[in-house]
Amino acid sequence: MAAQTHSPSDDAILRQYYRDFISGSHILHFHNVLDAFGHLSFRHPFNPGVFVMSRNAAPGTISSPGDLIAYRVEDAQPVDPNAAPGFLERCIHGECYKKYPSVQSVIHSHSEAVVPYSISGVPLRACYHMAGFLGASVPVWDIADAQKPGDTCDLLVRDTHLGASLAAAFSPGADHVGGDAPQSVVVLMRGHGFTVLAGSIQDCVMRAVYTQKNAMIQTTALTTRAADPSAAATAVRYLSQKEVDDTTWSIRQSAHRPWGLWLREVEACGLYVNSA
Ligand SMILES: [Zn+2]
Repeated sequence: MAAQTHSPSDDAILRQYYRDFISGSHILHFHNVLDAFGHLSFRHPFNPGVFVMSRNAAPGTISSPGDLIAYRVEDAQPVDPNAAPGFLERCIHGECYKKYPSVQSVIHSHSEAVVPYSISGVPLRACYHMAGFLGASVPVWDIADAQKPGDTCDLLVRDTHLGASLAAAFSPGADHVGGDAPQSVVVLMRGHGFTVLAGSIQDCVMRAVYTQKNAMIQTTALTTRAADPSAAATAVRYLSQKEVDDTTWSIRQSAHRPWGLWLREVEACGLYVNSA
């Protein structure tokens, strides 16, 4: 992609964003948050009206800035009209950046561990200290409520009106256009997956990984309880609101630690290439 920079230091900063983005995509694949589908994006550091994501390719296979495409937040169309084909669901990213100016990175995942909580009526809730960012419960967005007559019913977020409806689900009942942060940072998508928002690529990757881990823990807790008749009447104990608030703050103090480990994993495993 063409770099929109003004100085050598800007070039270096943007190069680091590219490197973090490519490594973040590899980390998400390594941890099974993304497979051949799903995607990561970041808001351009020098142009808030632009976001960047990869061309239409499996995240584990992208390797250089040449794989990246800049899109307008306004309509999720490529800045370069001759850009390579992009992801169909890029409106998820564009509309979240449009609605929440504080958001700097977005991930959309089809995690099989999370999807059951989008269709079962059982809310996904923060189960342990690493996932306090999930809050008291995670909203579920149903695309059927947003579709217009004639829309394709394949559950994919194909255009801006569907993306805008999803973005609104991060702040249910609120009009947050104009600068506020979302009320929730994760929204489940019925029969499809989830989308997570954050203020940096690293935080977004961390939240996506621990959303999936939390879903695995919650499923294990629910099935463990169901297997023991003596425990059937006992409620699974989720984090309280105070614990949600305090663990969210606490984990942020060591957020650099998993990124450093995960970076070494994808650099050492031999599958991934990052030439940025
Ligand atoms: Zn999807």
